[in-house]
Amino acid sequence: MIKISVVVPVYNERLMVKELHQRICDVMNRQPDPFEIIFVNDGSTDGTEEELASLAPLKVIHLERNCGQTPALDVGIREAKGDIIVLIDADFQNDPNDILPMLKKFSEGYDVVVGWRKERKDATSRLIFSKIANTMAGYFFDLSIHDFGCGLKAYRSRFIRDFYLWGQAQVFLPAVAKERGAKICEIPVRHNLRQAGSSKIPISKMMRGSFNLLSVGFFVKYLKKPLSTYYEMVRHPPYPIRSINNNEKR
Ligand code: UDP
Ligand code: MG
Repeated sequence: MIKISVVVPVYNERLMVKELHQRICDVMNRQPDPFEIIFVNDGSTDGTEEELASLAPLKVIHLERNCGQTPALDVGIREAKGDIIVLIDADFQNDPNDILPMLKKFSEGYDVVVGWRKERKDATSRLIFSKIANTMAGYFFDLSIHDFGCGLKAYRSRFIRDFYLWGQAQVFLPAVAKERGAKICEIPVRHNLRQAGSSKIPISKMMRGSFNLLSVGFFVKYLKKPLSTYYEMVRHPPYPIRSINNNEKR
């Protein structure tokens, strides 16, 4: 039985996926629990699909078109079979080695572990914007997390699996889990410059995403009234999956 699922959203990361897959396998093989790796190919057009075809063990979900990081995470989370779901970006800005200390926190009784990019390697404009957004989110959700936007996070799956992700809602997913009773902690993680290619998420999108603070906030309060239309929304993921391939053997 799969215990841990590692979910990676991938858009035009041809130069990255092979090494990333290898590094995640190496890290996960250093821990005892059965795991799966899921890459969600978010409509890549640069040959990423061909690179992914030769990798195993790996489950690849192909979306029909480029939908965005959030939909990619949404379908990956729904497909994940593990009790624990680790989310990590594909561009090596997160270090796969940080997955292991995160997993340790689950045995200490935590349900959500959020990465904190203490020494973040991003443009100053992003850093300033993030600082403001994190402070607002922390206050709004009464949750002292330094880095809501970190791409490296791990969740006990039952707290998040049925939550429909839209906009940039994954940023605030710890708040949803908290509302559902999860115990949350954060740990410092490494952060690197993107290793190849360029950022696919402009700061304008980050800014728009921050408005999700309000909609997720509304949802979090609304969860207390489960017979709402929103409840229906979480049951019907609208994102277009083209196919799912499962390469079990090398
Ligand atoms: N990504 C995706 N679909 C998109 C944009 C990004 O799946 O439309 C993936 C991307 O491949 C990476 C992660 O989301 O794994 C974060 O994207 P990126 O590194 O470009 O964002 P940044 O770190 O600059 O915010
Ligand atoms: Mg990045």
